[in-house]
Amino acid sequence: MNAIAIDEGARSARRRSRPALSSETMILLACAWFVLACNGPFWAAVQRAQASTALAVSLGVAMFALHAFLIGLCAWGRAVRPLLAVLLVTTAFATWYMDRFAVVFDADMMRSIVQTDPAETRELLSPSLILHVLLQGALPAAALWLVTPRQLPWRRQLKRRLLFLVATLALAVGALLPVSQGVFGLMRGDPLLRYRITPGNFVVSGARALAQGDAKAALGPKRPIATDAIQVPTAATRRPRLLVLVVGETVRGDHWGLNGYARQTTPALAARADLVNFPDVSACGTSTAVSLPCMFSPRGRAHYDRAAIAGEASVLDVLANLGISVLWRDNQAGCKGVCDGVETQAMSSADDPALCHDGRCLDEILLRGLAERIQAAPGDQLIVLHMLGNHGPNYFERYPAADEHFTPTCRTAELSRCGREEIANAYDNALLYTDAVLDQLIELLAAERERDIAMLYVSDHGESLGEYGLYLHGAPYRVAPRAQLHVPMVLWMSPAFSANSRIDTACVREVARKPTSHDHLFSTLLGVFDVKTSAYDPERDLFAACRDSPEAV
Ligand SMILES: [Zn+2]
Repeated sequence: MNAIAIDEGARSARRRSRPALSSETMILLACAWFVLACNGPFWAAVQRAQASTALAVSLGVAMFALHAFLIGLCAWGRAVRPLLAVLLVTTAFATWYMDRFAVVFDADMMRSIVQTDPAETRELLSPSLILHVLLQGALPAAALWLVTPRQLPWRRQLKRRLLFLVATLALAVGALLPVSQGVFGLMRGDPLLRYRITPGNFVVSGARALAQGDAKAALGPKRPIATDAIQVPTAATRRPRLLVLVVGETVRGDHWGLNGYARQTTPALAARADLVNFPDVSACGTSTAVSLPCMFSPRGRAHYDRAAIAGEASVLDVLANLGISVLWRDNQAGCKGVCDGVETQAMSSADDPALCHDGRCLDEILLRGLAERIQAAPGDQLIVLHMLGNHGPNYFERYPAADEHFTPTCRTAELSRCGREEIANAYDNALLYTDAVLDQLIELLAAERERDIAMLYVSDHGESLGEYGLYLHGAPYRVAPRAQLHVPMVLWMSPAFSANSRIDTACVREVARKPTSHDHLFSTLLGVFDVKTSAYDPERDLFAACRDSPEAV
């Protein structure tokens, strides 16, 4: 008993010796830390825009006061310290990715982060990231426990907090009003500037992503689309058809050998005279989470509505409901809701020591047992192969080590520590591997004689490799560089497919010269399987102009 009493006494004496701080003071100290230590990318952008000192000071004061206001609004009582600690640590993570990869934390990025799988997370962690988070986040968070929170009766606390909120809001307005013209000018010159203010960027974007109701859309049953769809003729009265749609990952169009890149990154495909290459294809989005649902929706980028697309069934459902065998084979983080209700095979969890390590598999895994699967299913088939492709930042892990052709390569997830050429070398080696996998796939399909077969490959989005200081992808669509939106697309048709579908290959080559986009996938898929519905748009069917009448392009 005595020992416990002495222990208690010592502990409370220690508590008394620590400085007592009100929750408002703690909030102000944390906000000062955010403004001064955590907003490097923001201050660099302000400096690049050659803002005056008065404008920069006003922005700093406003940033400080607005953060204090928002945190003061949300954090009360005993929750203040833990909440500030969480904010300090997450901010340290955010500043790392903003600093190294120029990541923009908009609502789409927050959704992508939530959908990241453990293998992706593992690749993004590095010793220097952990050190950075310890110094910039964990250390100041731990310092909060060196002080004693001052407890006040609740009435006094409430009065004090209201005063605090009024004062911080007045300070923010007072700081911004005299320089409002300059602020608008800065925002116009750099539309991404507001996304560089942290932690406001990820807190506000995260709240927006939540408010946009993803969870609601994902939980409820999906609204059916193209309910009037019928198939005429079906595989009962003609030879069965197979379309293998390969969804590539993170492949930018200008590094695609077939598109005239200075390096031949697609030697195997270039050697095939029977391919149709589409050099001018635009992606619907700059991230998998945006592009994938959009590619399989009738809305496309032309009528893009993220929430509506998330709540609706995809073209895969339409085809499956008509009795067409649909299979989604995935070597990545899943189909983002596109394949709900259809047969799915997660190949990334395959147990193949030659192709799989640490929860990741090389893309050849997508071909394992594929011929048997094709032969086993009767009638028409659509098989989607979702590649790991050029998923970054570890491009050097996306191909077998023995196949390293371009050297030296960047061998770290911290791309900004590598030279541009090392990054491009690793990236292009991964492209060579995609080329080899597609070539193997065509070989495999060409050997199948029972069906009319076509293979369509298209990447989900591109990638920034250091241009304008940008890395990876996920830039907001309206300001995204072409590197993230221009994607390769290539088509192979078996002679029987083009003959029996009455598709003139020369005509398709003409179509391929024109700009196309992910918006063409929905109607092209319906057209391949002779599906008639009011949702079908012949203008967006890559083959529509080339069926029956070769001269009508
Ligand atoms: Zn992607």
